[in-house]
Amino acid sequence: MAQAQSYPEIRAAVADLCANFGGAYWRDLDRERRYPTEFVRALTEAGYLSILIPESYGGSGLPLAAACAVLEEVHRSGANGGACHAQMYTMGTLLRHGSEAQKQQYLPAIAAGELRLQAFAVTEPGSGTDTSRIRTRAIRDGDDYLVNGQKVFISRTEHSDLMVLLARTADREAAAKHTDGMSVFLVDMREALGNGLTIRPIETMMNHASTELFFDDLRVPAANMIGPEGGGFRCILDGMNAERILIAAECIGDARFFVERAAGYAREREVFGRPIGANQGVQFPIARAHIQTEAAAGMVERAAVLYDAGEAAGSEANMAKLLASEAAWAAGDTCIQTHGGYGFAAEYDVERKFRETRLYQVAPISTNLILSHVATRELDLPRSF
Ligand SMILES: Cc1cc2nc3c(=O)[nH]c(=O)nc-3n(C[C@H](O)[C@H](O)[C@H](O)COP(=O)(O)OP(=O)(O)OC[C@H]3O[C@@H](n4cnc5c(N)ncnc54)[C@H](O)[C@@H]3O)c2cc1C
Repeated sequence: MAQAQSYPEIRAAVADLCANFGGAYWRDLDRERRYPTEFVRALTEAGYLSILIPESYGGSGLPLAAACAVLEEVHRSGANGGACHAQMYTMGTLLRHGSEAQKQQYLPAIAAGELRLQAFAVTEPGSGTDTSRIRTRAIRDGDDYLVNGQKVFISRTEHSDLMVLLARTADREAAAKHTDGMSVFLVDMREALGNGLTIRPIETMMNHASTELFFDDLRVPAANMIGPEGGGFRCILDGMNAERILIAAECIGDARFFVERAAGYAREREVFGRPIGANQGVQFPIARAHIQTEAAAGMVERAAVLYDAGEAAGSEANMAKLLASEAAWAAGDTCIQTHGGYGFAAEYDVERKFRETRLYQVAPISTNLILSHVATRELDLPRSF
């Protein structure tokens, strides 16, 4: 089966690591809604989560395309990188906009696996996709900022030591642009918990360690601000583009998992005295899913190349995420149909992956918002909002 062959050694090593965490491991976690601590530890110890950290800070200093290869293989194996992928993309903000002192303070410890930077807090109940309307507020108080507000659907906060937080430091209406007046902070969750930060878990369709956050006079040192005051939105955009490209790579992994599982089952399963895969009604949807997957994979690669070259990659990151999330969903649907009743049985892992991959048409950015970005930025169509 044709597939991208970038970083073949990394892919093979990740596949070997994932083989130690088979379907039964993920099914148990899913049933019990537990965090894959052992899997994340294994990835950390093997150095995969610090792959983007420069060598001078103890990481591997590899490009985003290498991180994409890691996450794609994780997902292709049947595992789920949602438990730890943020450690890769939050780097976009800290690496590109953190001060030298901040990088020295945090990056070596993260690379060594002593500190976890797994949480990225942007979304709020009152603002939804319109990030410029976030209401969480940080007000300067001596050497600190006092943070008040609320975030929703923030993943992995119970399994992270640090969190990248976006808060308003100036009113939306007072700013020249609506996206001005927001700032980024690196919050030490170990100090914050119980001292102004409350975490409440949210139960979701899949095992994703999602939470709601409440800030009540949380003190964050001013030294923990990343980038300039009021310029936080631009700082998180780098992280967000990396996030979209990495998650698109995960979707490619999901899609390949579904296509390979569907083709394997269609070759083996015999009904009416022959393999079901001999029927074109069964094989054509699998072939179509494969074609869609390969096309989307090409866009993911293109977005990663642009990002790694330091060029504007916003539209490509968005297009990659849209195409890959839809390819994964279509492949999942085909995989279930190919498996007949067995597609719904938990022990085949198909229904779990199907639930897991559905998320990526909504988060980290929903399909409609991507279409709107492309329509207005690439095609110069009038803005509707
Ligand atoms: C499991 C999970 C994990 C998440 N993890 C994180 C995280 O770690 N950190 C974080 O900050 N956020 C996280 N999110 C939040 C996620 O990024 C948001 O849910 C997503 O961006 C959509 O925002 P919303 O839910 O408020 O939807 P809304 O903005 O309320 O949108 C609802 C629907 O309306 C559509 N819509 C809205 N406005 C328009 C428009 N103008 N035109 C057309 N359609 C429109 C949207 O496309 C969407 O389909 C997570 C979400 C989930 C479910």
